Amino acid sequence: MRSHLLNDSTAEHYRRSVTAGVERVAAKLAATDRPFSGIGVGDLAPVIDAIDLDRPLGDASAALDELEDVYLRDAVYFHHPRYLGHLNCPVVIPAVLGEAVLSAINSSLDTWDQSGGGTLIERKLIDWTTERIGLGPAADGIFTSGGTQSNLQALLLARDEAKSRPEHYTRLRIFASECSHFSVQKSAKLLGLGPDSVVSVPVDSNKRMQTVALARALEQCVAEGSVPMAVVATGGTTDFGSIDPLPEIAALCERFSTWMHVDAAYGCGLLASRTRRHLLDGIALADSVTVDYHKSFFQPVSSSAVLVRDRATLRHATYHAEYLNPQRMTQERIPNQVDKSLQTTRRFDALKLWMTLRIMGADGVGELFDEVCGLAAEGWRLLAADPRFDVVVEPQLSTLVFRYIPASVTAPAEIDRANLHARKALFASGEAVVAGTKVGDRQYLKFTLLNPETTAQDITAVLDLISGHAEQYLGESLDRAS
Ligand SMILES: *Cc1c(COP(=O)(O)O)cnc(C)c1O
Repeated sequence: MRSHLLNDSTAEHYRRSVTAGVERVAAKLAATDRPFSGIGVGDLAPVIDAIDLDRPLGDASAALDELEDVYLRDAVYFHHPRYLGHLNCPVVIPAVLGEAVLSAINSSLDTWDQSGGGTLIERKLIDWTTERIGLGPAADGIFTSGGTQSNLQALLLARDEAKSRPEHYTRLRIFASECSHFSVQKSAKLLGLGPDSVVSVPVDSNKRMQTVALARALEQCVAEGSVPMAVVATGGTTDFGSIDPLPEIAALCERFSTWMHVDAAYGCGLLASRTRRHLLDGIALADSVTVDYHKSFFQPVSSSAVLVRDRATLRHATYHAEYLNPQRMTQERIPNQVDKSLQTTRRFDALKLWMTLRIMGADGVGELFDEVCGLAAEGWRLLAADPRFDVVVEPQLSTLVFRYIPASVTAPAEIDRANLHARKALFASGEAVVAGTKVGDRQYLKFTLLNPETTAQDITAVLDLISGHAEQYLGESLDRAS
């Protein structure tokens, strides 16, 4: 079994094994003609159930053959131009190269004595990001597993900066727009705040937080004797890509001495854009920022960070363990990243971004994100001009929320069902993958455009498929009724 350990004497085995895997994937990617096979859970589950994990295959080639059946054949392929579903991006090759290196070396970024230069590389990328945001000379941050964890940590810091005692946590309030990410609510729960701690602020017709309503909510909070702990502004909402008015929100945070968090999990790609960076104007005023490189920087999952204006606030996540990062190490200025993280053992995800910036450069990443934002603008024009569809807001980033409106039907519930059916039927056909969401009480469909290879023709073709599936459903439901 020692022959499976990666070390000096197995370097050749490693090379062969990984190369065989890379070749399978390369062949797969080259041959994929649709984003999904369309297989149902009921057909795939027995295949995986039948595998006896206590009877290993012994060699990589057999395991790769088996992987074809249990995974590769029916995986959802984000690189395909007709994958328009969730916020998943096609990945850039420099980052995949970084991924291969980081898992082989397997540094753990919690302490200097487990990572060496990895620590310094991560720190440099944090500095690079805080400079792009404009957080100032005292800024710092840490890579995390994703936007959910970044938001949790930011709100933990905000809670502890509010200097409330645990028995008063139920008085703390977080303000976030009704389109903000659900991880804000989840964080409030994990942080021991009360069930009413997240105040939902209404949005305008462009799905951006209404600052007049925010001001009123903050005033009311103070009048009631509650404590405004944080405002979460979203720099690109998950559904609409709408960006809250950051400068106005910053001014209100200043007035109410409230922590300003900007959740830019989606919109962070603008930090690399030469033409759209201004959409995030005001982000420099934040106390903390969430970025998901694994969304708009075209990085493989996971790659995210939380950034803070004042590095001293990160102490709220610091604990000292004698075996790991005893206090004396801090005095000796040993850079132990675990002092700033909710995790202990932690992947060197930063290496992927490092390789990306060293090979492509930030402008290269920004251009890719600009392309998908441009495509969304074009998609919006197509949808707005198409009488078959109702489209919700002109996108600031790269999502389109719309629904099919049949000419013959007016009952809203029936239209909902037709749209739900179209999404499901499309998924089952494997020809394209789209997402869905609700607007008010009504069922809508969503394109999340993160693939620069997707064209306006792809959008038109998928809209035709949707209309076809919806009409087929309505035809059948008419038959059922008669
Ligand atoms: C995706 C997203 C998150 C959550 O990020 P994960 O990386 O999925 O944990 C948070 N906020 C917004 C606005 C998002 O779009």
